[in-house]
Amino acid sequence: MTPAEVANGVLAGRRRAIGRAISMAESLGPEGREVMRLLHPRAGTAMRVGITGSPGAGKSTLSAAIVRLLRERGLTVAIVSVDPTSPFTRGAVLGDRIRLGDHFLDEGVFIRSMASRGHLGGLAEATGDAMTILDAAGFDVVIVETVGAGQNEVEVQALTHTVVLVLMPGSGDAIQAIKAGVMEIPDVIVINKRDRPGADVLAGEVESALTLVPTDGWLPPVVLTQALDEQGVDDAWGAVERHRANLAASGLANARARDGMRRNLRSLALERLARDLVERADDAALDALASRVIAREIDPATAVDSILGTPPPQEG
Ligand code: GDP
Repeated sequence: MTPAEVANGVLAGRRRAIGRAISMAESLGPEGREVMRLLHPRAGTAMRVGITGSPGAGKSTLSAAIVRLLRERGLTVAIVSVDPTSPFTRGAVLGDRIRLGDHFLDEGVFIRSMASRGHLGGLAEATGDAMTILDAAGFDVVIVETVGAGQNEVEVQALTHTVVLVLMPGSGDAIQAIKAGVMEIPDVIVINKRDRPGADVLAGEVESALTLVPTDGWLPPVVLTQALDEQGVDDAWGAVERHRANLAASGLANARARDGMRRNLRSLALERLARDLVERADDAALDALASRVIAREIDPATAVDSILGTPPPQEG
């Protein structure tokens, strides 16, 4: 299939074309670039939501429950699941959950897992493209699910309208989150596993921590869920919808989109530079340079000039 055929297939909502387009984008070659050039102008209608949090907090379970809720409402949903460690098993886990919910053969649901491993800059490049593809394919809601780890969260914010942080009691997560300043990032905070002891206490702690965070008029709601039993999920989704509506009404949506895109473009540029670097400096070339630096024939900065192909700075 040519890039134009793939793009047309995506616009027609054909699943194979969607899968193919994401693979093309992931391989970062000229075909993927062409597909994205064709699809970018056709995206922009989906509601984009990020779900972040530590492993085990219940992100996949919550995503699956949200899928069921949205399907009941007649909305179509795509999920991109990003994991730095084992994309394969995670995709399988999420797939199993959705399957349990009888959505396996549902045309209105699309699930794709992606590895963030190997993307030096993090999430931005392939994940952003996958979201654009799914948006252009006509899914009403596109969810990106990722392990929250600093930079990832910032990038998720750049790619979405609303970020949901999932915490669970007894994990020290909230304390970590507050310390790490993550509290400034989410738009909605879900305390999952409310069946476990300490959920209410955690919710209280998080709420009081939030009062210390400067807001632009939106105080992130804290919602308790028991995703495994699909309890509180409608409240969590309601908070997401309210955030989106508030963003639109406040007139901040454009500023947020522009800030996000500015950060996104910077990440994309860094990823491309990092990739170029990896191509320029293979292990053999680096070994040779390392030997010369160790033998004190050249200094490290000169070795870097050689890797980058930049001339050494002129004196004076
Ligand atoms: P993720 O790594 O954040 O995606 O977390 P998962 O969705 O895979 O959930 C981790 C574990 O927590 C799984 O064994 C789930 O069955 C379990 N889990 C998810 N939600 C709940 C809940 O509301 N209550 C309890 N007790 N366990 C849950």
